[in-house]
Amino acid sequence: MTEPATITVPGRACGGCTLCCDLPDIDELDKPANTLCRHCVRDQGCLAYEARPRTCRSFYCSWMTDPQMAAEWEPAHSHMMVYRQGQQLTVLVDPRRPDVWRGERYLATLKRWAGEAEAMGGYVIVFVGDEVMKIAP
Ligand code: SF4
Ligand code: SF4
Repeated sequence: MTEPATITVPGRACGGCTLCCDLPDIDELDKPANTLCRHCVRDQGCLAYEARPRTCRSFYCSWMTDPQMAAEWEPAHSHMMVYRQGQQLTVLVDPRRPDVWRGERYLATLKRWAGEAEAMGGYVIVFVGDEVMKIAP
């Protein structure tokens, strides 16, 4: 779901990951959250790549753009995608792996991020299907 207009971390690529074509809602496509886009083939990619909407063209998750994010956050392996929306750091969890974010190493990092965000007036929100959780530092 990408186009090389944004600076990405050298050595990182979306590969077969299609989480951002699945987990977020996308108004331009009338796509609800946690529903695979009608143009997407899971683990392969977009069948409408040349005609994909602007939202898709401009989006990269934080793992693709932030070199500070450790390898373990690669969406294809973590089953989570992370991105910034203003003061909010958003974590979308694949509902097929609803508890993955509670794992010790992920939760410790989420709490650290929450502390760092709070110091800057921000916050960290985890979405798992219809569940919404604000992470306490
Ligand atoms: S249009 Fe393509 S890039 Fe955009 S969400 Fe659908 S499959 Fe993904
Ligand atoms: S979630 Fe991140 S790594 Fe996965 S396809 Fe989207 S931008 Fe690429």
